Amino acid sequence: MKTAVITGITGQDGPYLARILIEKGYKVIGTTRSYNIDNSFWKFKYLNIDKDIIVEKLDLMDMSNILGILKKYHPAEIYNLAAQSSVGLSFKEPLGTFYFNTISVNNLLESIKLFFPEIKFYQACSSEMFGKVKKLPITLNTSMNPISPYGVTKMASFFTTKVYRQSYNIFAVNGILFNHESYLRSNNFFVKKVVRSAIMIKRGILNFLEVGNLDLKRDFGYSPKYMEAVWKMLQLDSPEDFIICSGKSILLRDIVEYVFDKLNISMKLVVENEELVRPDEIEDIYGDNSKAKKKLKWEYNLSFFDVLDILIEEEINNLKT
Ligand code: NAP
Repeated sequence: MKTAVITGITGQDGPYLARILIEKGYKVIGTTRSYNIDNSFWKFKYLNIDKDIIVEKLDLMDMSNILGILKKYHPAEIYNLAAQSSVGLSFKEPLGTFYFNTISVNNLLESIKLFFPEIKFYQACSSEMFGKVKKLPITLNTSMNPISPYGVTKMASFFTTKVYRQSYNIFAVNGILFNHESYLRSNNFFVKKVVRSAIMIKRGILNFLEVGNLDLKRDFGYSPKYMEAVWKMLQLDSPEDFIICSGKSILLRDIVEYVFDKLNISMKLVVENEELVRPDEIEDIYGDNSKAKKKLKWEYNLSFFDVLDILIEEEINNLKT
């Protein structure tokens, strides 16, 4: 039986990735900064993996703590998903975001290099590393020009991973994932907020939806499908980086209109608030997923409107109000 460690298990992607690994027969160790995971345990129950997952407390800023977990479980694979992952919050907490998102990656790779060089390592990178680009779609050859503290940290983690792969022959890969959503997304992220708020307006417990700039386009996908690609990346014989995205961008305004229209709510209840506009924004971004489709044999054909249908249905069924 293969053992895998997933850091950031309490987030959106961790539980979906854990479900894939458990279905494939892995022993899965999920790690969290806090042992008080009551707030997130519902996610494991929701995916019916609560009895199959081992949760460990792990401070990724402390290398001796990492080594303790690796010595205890001897994993074949580590999926590093833990991060301060909000672009908006990274403008408010740039130092905390930088320290955690960079040093945690260094600590993991240094532990692998020194003591467990056989472990395969996956680093969760982001399209935010590219920032404003001259040409779309984004490919692995596109220059990085991040415009948020978060983007800077993910760029640093990308190159750190690449250095350990090239210099020390470690199986270390970067997954450059574009925005992906699901029912397990935190409430502060745009799509989740739109869907939840619309249902709450429909149920008469919220008066309006507050938004920032809606005239931006993003490449959105579905987390459970993206996690399939992440697992496939560590099954290759040699390490390579991949872009995982839908390949198309969609206007944020169209997302709000689709959700409000589906729930029969007036767009007059959408209020634009200057305070929610970020200091700098990428206007349009979408990526090229052809390498992932070809080399990983990853299939992805969902339009984001299909994903929105899934999200609306799950939220209606589960939102307790
Ligand atoms: P998420 O929901 O924010 O989960 C990340 C987890 O990291 C949290 O549950 C948290 O768990 C842990 N964490 C560790 N240190 C943290 C810190 N300083 N601040 C906040 N949380 C911290 O992220 P996700 O959506 O599952 O994404 C997984 C990874 O993919 C992240 O690295 C993210 O940056 C990256 N990514 C995500 C997307 C996307 O659209 N979702 C796109 C590209 C890249 P504990 O508190 O339990 O430790």
